[in-house]
Amino acid sequence: MKISNIETFPVALELMQPFKIANASFTHMYYVMTKVETDDGVTGYGESSPAWEVTGETQFSVMDCIHHLTEEDKLGFNLIGQEVSNLQNVKDIMEILCPNNHVNIFWGAPSAKAGLEEALLDIVGKTQGKSIYELFGGKQKPVPFAHVLGIAPVKETLGQAKELLENGIDKIKLKIGVEKIDGLENYQRDVDVILGIKNLIETLNPGAKMVADANQGFITAEKTIAFLKKVPDCLEYLEQPVIAGDRLGMKQIKEHCDVTLMADESLHSYYDAKILLELNAVDIFNIKLMKCGGMIEALKLADLAKQNNKRVVLGSMMENQVGAIPSLHTFFCDDIFDSTESGFFNYLKTNIGSGLSLDGKFIKVPSGPGIGLDVDERDFRKHLITTNRSKALKHILNLYQ
Ligand SMILES: [Mg+2]
Repeated sequence: MKISNIETFPVALELMQPFKIANASFTHMYYVMTKVETDDGVTGYGESSPAWEVTGETQFSVMDCIHHLTEEDKLGFNLIGQEVSNLQNVKDIMEILCPNNHVNIFWGAPSAKAGLEEALLDIVGKTQGKSIYELFGGKQKPVPFAHVLGIAPVKETLGQAKELLENGIDKIKLKIGVEKIDGLENYQRDVDVILGIKNLIETLNPGAKMVADANQGFITAEKTIAFLKKVPDCLEYLEQPVIAGDRLGMKQIKEHCDVTLMADESLHSYYDAKILLELNAVDIFNIKLMKCGGMIEALKLADLAKQNNKRVVLGSMMENQVGAIPSLHTFFCDDIFDSTESGFFNYLKTNIGSGLSLDGKFIKVPSGPGIGLDVDERDFRKHLITTNRSKALKHILNLYQ
């Protein structure tokens, strides 16, 4: 069975409420849905969630990348005609796109690779009547996820945290890392929120844990160290306080504070992880399929973490249901994963694909063949970006008038 056609669809889905983190804020999420067809009539679906602020990708860069892979004169490689009958076929294709033993034919584009890989695995799963995780020998188990609170004023954030704790939620992830906000300077909003939630936890749900993600917002090791002194013994871990490329800053924090440190924007690939390990600059890997290039690479990273006695969380790039699936299936394939952040689809007004649901502290994942979701292809066109959501699209259309 060979690939016969590939289509991509740039879509926008609206969030129920605007979501703010240290380096960006969002009212809509922009995804690329990929459809891969075979000469046997099997169709696979995948989703890319390009995060400009993390991987430098955009919807159009993802689409261009995927279509480049069908233009042999550009790369000397063509996805059309490639065999996709079994898992090894997909691994062989991904070894060309994310090579470990070959020369790179192109650099970067991890969410394009992840969305494409998902569609190929969906085809193999549907053909063999197995879920993607079953292809990898995984088994279903409860999937815990963190409830994430975006950056909002202190009172509002404490109100949201109180409601979660009163409902028995025992893990809250805070977004922090804005130096000046609402008249407060020097990260005082974050200090007030963290000390306030610590009090709420002691009163309402003493076993609950609080973690915080700065999305690089403390910028330097010095500012991070000063901040940590103001919130002692509050956080289970602190995620990515410094600029992504400053791996020496991560090392410096570890040398001066007894904090459990998670690497997110600093850790995309297997080789990033090797550097962080060599520097003793990380305790927990935040592995995201949209950063590393898909499930096959994510499982290699997990293996590296295991060999080095590090913990792993499967992070999220705020995916819609279709994009959340491979991360959830990765969770089923190794016992090393602490939890996931794949509940984000619940923040969207409308999803493309259905089948996932939240059940208190856990995500319920369907076990049908391939990605296991019900996907209505008409939704790809229904949610296509329009010119009022993309100046690039407007410009391109004008060029061809
Ligand atoms: Mg993060």
